[in-house]
Amino acid sequence: MLAAASAQMASAPFQTPSRVGRAASGLAPLLESIRQRLDVDFATLRLLDDDRLVLAGSAGAPPPALENEARFSSRALIAPLVVPDTALDARFSDHRTIRFYAGIPLVTAEGATIGLLSLFDHSPRPLKLAARLAVLAANAMRPVDEPPSQQRLIATLRGQLADQARLIHEQADALDHSRLIFERAAATARIGVWECDLATEELTWTDGVYDMFELPRGSSVDRATTLQCYAPASLALLQKLRAQAVAQGIGFTLDAEITTHKGNRRWMRLTTSVETANGVATRLFGMKQDITEEKILADRTRYLAEFDVMTGLANRSRFQSRLADPAQAIGALLLVDLDGFKSINDTFGHALGDECLKETALRLEAVGIEAELVARIGGDEFAVLLGPQTDCATAEALAGKIVEILGRPVTRGDQILQLGASVGIARATPEVSPDQLFKQADTALYAAKAAGRKTFRLFSPA
Ligand code: GH3
Ligand code: MG
Repeated sequence: MLAAASAQMASAPFQTPSRVGRAASGLAPLLESIRQRLDVDFATLRLLDDDRLVLAGSAGAPPPALENEARFSSRALIAPLVVPDTALDARFSDHRTIRFYAGIPLVTAEGATIGLLSLFDHSPRPLKLAARLAVLAANAMRPVDEPPSQQRLIATLRGQLADQARLIHEQADALDHSRLIFERAAATARIGVWECDLATEELTWTDGVYDMFELPRGSSVDRATTLQCYAPASLALLQKLRAQAVAQGIGFTLDAEITTHKGNRRWMRLTTSVETANGVATRLFGMKQDITEEKILADRTRYLAEFDVMTGLANRSRFQSRLADPAQAIGALLLVDLDGFKSINDTFGHALGDECLKETALRLEAVGIEAELVARIGGDEFAVLLGPQTDCATAEALAGKIVEILGRPVTRGDQILQLGASVGIARATPEVSPDQLFKQADTALYAAKAAGRKTFRLFSPA
């Protein structure tokens, strides 16, 4: 019945229909005083008459496109409805001329709905204020100098409005409370909620997003300035995913790097949902979460898992994965081991020993610039992986250079340390497994050591 009533109302003109009777016609001045006291653009009182919602009175200038009023009233007839800002409410966000709406159904003691008081404004209202307006609206229904029949009607309406307004106020309190809890939880989790109107590119942020970009909460934001905060790679990815989302109406998640307005670099995880109307994307919204700490931790963990902290070279684990990777062919493996390194430690101490290892790493990287990978795979043991095009002569030439360059002394302060290294070479062939290749290079290294050190040997089955 209510749906039918509001559907009929959708085409009702803004004049007092005769069927509601003269009793209601005197309500216009009362509504006008309510409207002025509540400082809203427009107020209507509609009464159910014969299952039709008919206009009993209105005050103020009706906003353009008020024919959409049924969108609000169909809901408000069922339960009091306060929409502090239509732009933030997915049900009404396509409304541009009405930003605030409050609808209070008038219900008799028996529970029958008899009408609806509606308040409209072109500006949004904070939730608490919106609820207070509803209370004021109820209290404002005070009969003054009206004939007795009107007084009875108004008294009934006033009682019903007061009850409904109290309900709205309680709901607003509960909502404020949950919003507070949400804001606190969001701040702890470093989460903010954002939305972007696709027609106007207008952005709306909660405090959490302002904090993330290090902007004063509630300050005005625009999309162009916000995009300037993104690192180029993140921006390119964002633009691509956003265009896809708008075209297909499907959301996405992206980890993006930004520089805040105070110049700090941060990582945030952006989730995006798309709202569509008639198959066309109208609004993007979602969450932004500051993941800088997790990102640093994850990068650090990954680094520790794959790199040697002292020298910065790949570690044994990364070397083994690369060696065993069937997708990346290898031409040759060189194993390098420092000669007599224990005595360097014994003579000059562990700290200087470490300096020698760092210097070795630098020299190996310099000489092995063409190598696929240079790794530290043990205490004083290093590995150099060469690409599939490497022939015997190239591998041997590189091994010779390594022996030569690692044989040069290392100077630290007034200490001169004499180093040396031996190298074992194994050539990769399709029949040789990664494990076998490693054993062959190790055998060749052992042979170089046995031959007196500071030299290299190429593995041969003999
Ligand atoms: P060889 O000529 O046969 O290779 O003998 P070596 O003295 O070089 O000794 P070996 O290769 O068998 O052992 C490597 C030594 O490197 C053992 C250990 O004392 C030292 N070492 C291992 N890790 C580190 C490290 O991180 N820092 C320092 N300073 N020394 C290390
Ligand atoms: Mg050694």
